Amino acid sequence: MDLDGRVVAEQLKASFSAEVEALAASGRRPRLVAFQVGQNPATEAYVRGQRRGAEAWRIDYEMRTLPAGATEADVRAALADANEDPSVTGVLLQLPLPAPLPGRALQHAIAPGKDVEGVHPENLGGVVHGRDGLAPCTALAVMALIDASGVTVPGAEAVVVGHSEIVGKPVALMLLARDATTHVCHKFTRDLAAHTRGADVLVVAVGRPNLVTADMVKPGAVVVDVGINAVPVPGEPGRTRIVGDVDTAGLLARGCRVTPVPGGVGPVTVAMLMRNTVLAARRRAPPPEETAPSLFLGLE
Ligand code: NAD
Repeated sequence: MDLDGRVVAEQLKASFSAEVEALAASGRRPRLVAFQVGQNPATEAYVRGQRRGAEAWRIDYEMRTLPAGATEADVRAALADANEDPSVTGVLLQLPLPAPLPGRALQHAIAPGKDVEGVHPENLGGVVHGRDGLAPCTALAVMALIDASGVTVPGAEAVVVGHSEIVGKPVALMLLARDATTHVCHKFTRDLAAHTRGADVLVVAVGRPNLVTADMVKPGAVVVDVGINAVPVPGEPGRTRIVGDVDTAGLLARGCRVTPVPGGVGPVTVAMLMRNTVLAARRRAPPPEETAPSLFLGLE
């Protein structure tokens, strides 16, 4: 598979390893604190990935689990604690939260400079401005995989299927920032195939297996499959496997370059979470004793 996410994730880690060690040497090893409320089987794989990723990147990682019955005030207090703790450089809140907790609103209570998932309105605003800072990890991962394909992005016809706040919209903005002619499709798009067939670069982020089939793509297109779907394994009742949103085999047979699921966007998303954590640690102001200008500087 030529768009192997594990390879891209490994390259990203290598490009940051010297910086992580330099930060650690100056007493500022990046430290990520993740919060979850209760346990959620649906997010277990992502949490496992976070822990493994942090270990591989030599980033300190701590999961703080609040009881399933935690109130909004409890979650806000826990986040405020981490926001104020200077030893914590990155914070994330694992969604979904148990009802009736307002997941998105609570994510916005994370200090923008520590928001390593890049979902705070201030960081999303940075994406609108084309700033290269904290940004949604999956959108960054999609861009890294497109770049790994070697396709020329400026002027390319790019089609993004799905317009969620954390994947479709930021990906579309990032493609626009790179001068791709960008189209966005969603559940009200009348003729999806009419759009996807024109794509040199196709990003599919919906959550529906087999939404994009071989007859819907241009031969040779670069296709990034973001979807994660559990489907039954034929002949094995009760067992499921993970697939994406596109017919991978069919698209490969059309000469497309396709990211696999699993092993495509997923590992790069985790790597981007670590990249954001390093960025947040880099930007954090050094402790006051390092920054306070000496009153006697140059006066001796
Ligand atoms: P979402 O549910 O918030 O949004 C789904 C989008 O798909 C919407 O914009 C909707 O309009 C569109 N849509 C629905 N049906 C459609 C159809 N028939 N045709 C065209 N568009 C349609 O989803 P999300 O959070 O963006 O996630 C999308 C998928 O990506 C999910 O499967 C999710 O699990 C996966 N995901 C993967 C990663 C990763 O790291 N690999 C990260 C985030 C999300």
